[in-house]
Amino acid sequence: MEWKFLQLNAPIYLDNNATTPMDPDVLTAMTPYFLNKFGNAASRNHSFGCEAAGAVEDARQQIAKLIGADVREIIFTSGATEAVNLAIKGVAESTFYADKGRHIVTVRTEHKAVLDTCAWLETKGWHVTYLPVDEFGLIGLKQLEAAITDQTVLVCVMHANNETGVIQPIQEIATLCKHRGTLFFTDATQSVGKQLLDVDDFGIDLLAMSAHKMYGPKGVGVLFVRRRKPRVRCEAMIHGGGHERGMRSGTLNVPGIIGMGAVATLCRQNMGTEQQRIRNLRDELQRGLSDRISGIVINGSVEHRLVNTLNISIEGIDSEVLMENIPDIAVSSSSACTSAALQPSHVLAAMGRSDGHIAGSIRFSLGRFTTAIEIAKTVEAFAAAVNSLR
Ligand SMILES: *Cc1c(COP(=O)(O)O)cnc(C)c1O
Repeated sequence: MEWKFLQLNAPIYLDNNATTPMDPDVLTAMTPYFLNKFGNAASRNHSFGCEAAGAVEDARQQIAKLIGADVREIIFTSGATEAVNLAIKGVAESTFYADKGRHIVTVRTEHKAVLDTCAWLETKGWHVTYLPVDEFGLIGLKQLEAAITDQTVLVCVMHANNETGVIQPIQEIATLCKHRGTLFFTDATQSVGKQLLDVDDFGIDLLAMSAHKMYGPKGVGVLFVRRRKPRVRCEAMIHGGGHERGMRSGTLNVPGIIGMGAVATLCRQNMGTEQQRIRNLRDELQRGLSDRISGIVINGSVEHRLVNTLNISIEGIDSEVLMENIPDIAVSSSSACTSAALQPSHVLAAMGRSDGHIAGSIRFSLGRFTTAIEIAKTVEAFAAAVNSLR
């Protein structure tokens, strides 16, 4: 990280829930697969293809190990959005579940990848229940239990929320789904690599993840699809050659997959120490801002929350205006983070927050390369900007 010290007043990046910078070691691992090791992993009749295919299988193993899966349960996609689409539409389209019914249960605070896919299925005759959350962003297990019917094919509840960092009790949710005989899918894009997670221990049937949220490259993700107890049936959305066990055709993104394998191993090795360091910095940020600025409210559960995320609202302050005054610090206002159009956050709205409260909300998301100096500078800059606006 020496390069950081060469830049005077370098901008500070606290938007790691939107995307993370790549770890330099990951780029090193990927580089040969752009250059001399460029083979198509499906062309196994010569050494170029075999080399690529072997490297892809190693990466599959690295990723499987991170989440406690079998290599045959890892399906490579272009990212979490595609993995989410494949999980939900793939199960919905499967004739195996057709007799059961056409009902899905999800939550109002899900990522748009889930909500827009469910909304699309509604236009095709599916019935979707959107569970509410409490003021802390958590769903009620009793409400979930009441929502599941004999026709429910799939329950979709994300692990950690991208805006607030709030972590849903997915182990209990998975257990409930098992008892009620319905499949459980979790969008774990924000938690894989940050939180311990084991698909068998947790009882997860399908899980989506993305490399660029865990210091890997953009354009590659994974859908975990359980093969045993139960064997999950998932129809392909993209046809053309039968790659990835028939669930996702198309030439594999070999360099991206190698990068995702490398980050999986890095995350597994560093998770404990790294998460403790990031938690300390996040807590320092939370304390510093609360000490220096009056009228701060934390959005979401403080107890059940990712260690890297802090979402606050500042009374009487419009976050867009505040961010314009601090252009060198990259954070996210909840209104801007889901789409190009400025809309008040559906996540904070579901938590019962007023429009004014949402307009004052800011998300800080820390990462592997965040330093204590950056946190101190951020507290100073925000305190000064809020004071001048007030
Ligand atoms: C970023 C994100 C996605 C989308 O991931 P892509 O790989 O960018 O398509 C989906 N769900 C959550 C929770 C996310 O944070």
